[in-house]
Amino acid sequence: MATEQEKRIKNEFKKKAQEKPEKYYPVKALIEHGFKRYKCKVCGNYFWSCVERSICGDPNCIGEYQFIGKKIIKPLCFPEVWQRFSKFLEKFGYTPISRYPVVARWREDLFFVEASIDDFIPYVLEGVSEPIANPLTVPQFCLRFNDIDNVGVTGRHYTGFVMIGQHAFEKPANYKPEEYLEHIYLWLTEELKIPEESIQFHEDAWAGSGKLGPSMEYFSHGLELGNQVYMQFDISTGQIRELPLKVLDMGMGQERYVWFSNGTSTSYECVMPTVVKKLFSITGIKKTELFEKFLPYSGKLNLDEVVDIDIAWKEIAKILHVDVKTLKEEVYPLTALFAIAEHTRTLLVALHDGALPSNVGGGYNLRVILRRCFNFIEKFSWDIELEKIFEEHAKYLKPQYPELSENLEEIYEIINHERKKYAQTKKKAKEILSKLRKEDITKEKMIELYDSHGITPEELKEKFWIEIPKDFYKLVTEKHGKTEIMKEKRLPKVENIITEKLYYQNDKIYEFEAKVLKIIDNWVVLDRTAFYPRGGGQEPDFGKINQSNVIDVEQVGNAVLHKVDKITFEEGDIVKCVVNKERRERIKAHHTAVHILNGACRKILGNHVWQAGSYKDDKKARLDITHYKTLSREEIEKIEKLCNEIVSKNIKVEKLVLPRSKAESLFGFRLYQGGAVPGREIRIIKINNFDVEACGGLHADNTAEIQGILITNVSKIQDAVIRIELVAGKALQEFGEFVEKRIEKLKEILNCSEEDIVAKVNELLNKKEKLEKELKKKVKEKLNEIAKKTEFEIIGNIKLYAKEVEFELKEMKEFSRRISAENTVVVLLNKKGFIFASAGNKTGIDIGALIRKICEKFNGKGGGSKIVAQGFVKNKEGVLECIKEELKKLGKS
Ligand SMILES: [Zn+2]
Ligand SMILES: [Zn+2]
Repeated sequence: MATEQEKRIKNEFKKKAQEKPEKYYPVKALIEHGFKRYKCKVCGNYFWSCVERSICGDPNCIGEYQFIGKKIIKPLCFPEVWQRFSKFLEKFGYTPISRYPVVARWREDLFFVEASIDDFIPYVLEGVSEPIANPLTVPQFCLRFNDIDNVGVTGRHYTGFVMIGQHAFEKPANYKPEEYLEHIYLWLTEELKIPEESIQFHEDAWAGSGKLGPSMEYFSHGLELGNQVYMQFDISTGQIRELPLKVLDMGMGQERYVWFSNGTSTSYECVMPTVVKKLFSITGIKKTELFEKFLPYSGKLNLDEVVDIDIAWKEIAKILHVDVKTLKEEVYPLTALFAIAEHTRTLLVALHDGALPSNVGGGYNLRVILRRCFNFIEKFSWDIELEKIFEEHAKYLKPQYPELSENLEEIYEIINHERKKYAQTKKKAKEILSKLRKEDITKEKMIELYDSHGITPEELKEKFWIEIPKDFYKLVTEKHGKTEIMKEKRLPKVENIITEKLYYQNDKIYEFEAKVLKIIDNWVVLDRTAFYPRGGGQEPDFGKINQSNVIDVEQVGNAVLHKVDKITFEEGDIVKCVVNKERRERIKAHHTAVHILNGACRKILGNHVWQAGSYKDDKKARLDITHYKTLSREEIEKIEKLCNEIVSKNIKVEKLVLPRSKAESLFGFRLYQGGAVPGREIRIIKINNFDVEACGGLHADNTAEIQGILITNVSKIQDAVIRIELVAGKALQEFGEFVEKRIEKLKEILNCSEEDIVAKVNELLNKKEKLEKELKKKVKEKLNEIAKKTEFEIIGNIKLYAKEVEFELKEMKEFSRRISAENTVVVLLNKKGFIFASAGNKTGIDIGALIRKICEKFNGKGGGSKIVAQGFVKNKEGVLECIKEELKKLGKS
């Protein structure tokens, strides 16, 4: 997404470029093919055409799509588009590569890949990493969730689509836009045989992610078939500067070519034909004549552009000579069916690539579309098994994405789990709905109800006849966008200092000499260091610099900063440094144990498991994994057993340094367990093929050094994230001793043998439960007894009971309930100064207001509704008398 500044710079740049088109746009190729420049009389933009035209190719200027119902070229099926494009461009030297995962783990700023160029941001574009091939083509599956409400309705919106990319990354001398455009021209006219006179190239510009370039969009019959961006400038500072690496970024929607060539009324029918057919046959739904008539106007319901959706429906109904109700009744089921077809395809790819539905982050969008599917199925009582639909998608996409057939069983399990969870949520939602009042429902409340209880705005509308914000799902998903979380820690600024990192040369250096380059407060910068700084969840080394204790170590830029308890040296001194070996070895063992645990979780729980976070110090470690449910005892035991098998197998822990693209092609994106890793070369930690990760931390040389792994706790820390805590190595021994001591203590307290501890504790718990029950019963009896003897004071038409009691707040409520009636006022005050009060609705007393007033008067706080109130006073002398006085006054007036 472009920022406001980027948009402004882009518009200025476009104006400038259009003043000298031959300088900024690769028009030589077009001129050779007989194209000429025209100005659109509708939008005023410049475009190129080989026949005379007064209107550009944009559907907004033409008024509609002109390929529907026609066969402009031979119909293409979905996988065929990529097959032919990649093959055709191979002739010009483009290497086809496999798609990247849709979960953008190499990016800090994105959850999901949104465009093919995202694959190469930031590393390739910044020159940090070589592209896998150059030039290249890629069939990149992309996810975008800003149009959920439109999917199924307009016949052309998608949450998941394939952007076929044509990319080149070149030094200025080798950058050849004329050629790139010529390749596209040939693809359109020679390979696809699209009549040349139906094609228009529009002059435009593109800006985003701090980059800028002129661009050429191309259209035929009112459909944009692609956009070639010549990314050549950096605008991150607000100034336009030439990039050292110039980039070709051409993206074209694979779905569009299928639609264009088939000319069907919706794009879903030809993009996912087997799935749509299956859904039609399961539900018995057919495309009706009215629906076909409706579709050309469905664009009027595009929520991004429409002001009032109800008016839009009315307008369409008028054009089609039907009433709105009939129109909606015929159109809704079809649009729902198309939405299911579309959403399941997105879910298949996202879940395969390791995303999970959840209530946070990117997983949130997946939950929204999955629940949309559940809702449609329920609403229309369709007998759709989503598993079958997933299977059909995987089968159809096999030629292009064979990997999607791999994990189906696991995906079904995730879907089933979500279904159960949703059913539970729904049940709870029913209760909440029954208590809800129309006047409580604000826009914020609607979002909250959807977010926390799964109550859809459609349900609210049905029950309360309220207006739904037209962009409801957009509002909801916007709330869950990725925001960068920057670690807020105040570290001194150091610039242009590089500390030599001895720990990467040899992680067994514990003593070394170094020169003090800088001292800022208690932070010390050395010219070289063996102290490992905090990073990747690994806690820092401690030790000594001369007589000072090192208590923290951090990396800032290329410098390593050591925090010491006191300064015992000066800048320029040569100091003697000692790293605490014991601490280092313990942390190394824990760090390696976390890798093993990660591998074990994936083996036992499935391929959807990814590291979501980790922490390791000298006493304990933990690993957070993505997983859709809590772990069973059995699963935990299996994981632990597998971990210890790996430990006892005495496996070498390999530490490799590889160029990024080589590492990615050897081990895949599984490498990025800890998230984005910067740098041209990356460090790989490899434990056979059991676990391979990119990691900058310190590890044992051999799994046997870890001695053993014990899982000490497992908990769910957020939706779809499970935390597993462990101890290993020396800490494990210590933990054992600690547990041993505790057991001794327990034996002593319980006065039993070790084997009997569990039985004994159970016995005590049972006893406790029994006693509590008895106590409750006794309290009840006592309350009843007192209630019977209650005597009320009569004030006007009110029966008043105002007494100091020896109850806790809970009992005060119970007691009050027993003696209250329509005409009573009950005020109870206990020793601690708590007040509980109630007033029957025939008394005409606002007890909440009264208690608030009294509490304030007696240095406390209180309040409530008209019928119940509670409060607290600091000084309870005279409280009850005062209340009586007030009631007398109120009674009279
Ligand atoms: Zn125009
Ligand atoms: Zn590691």
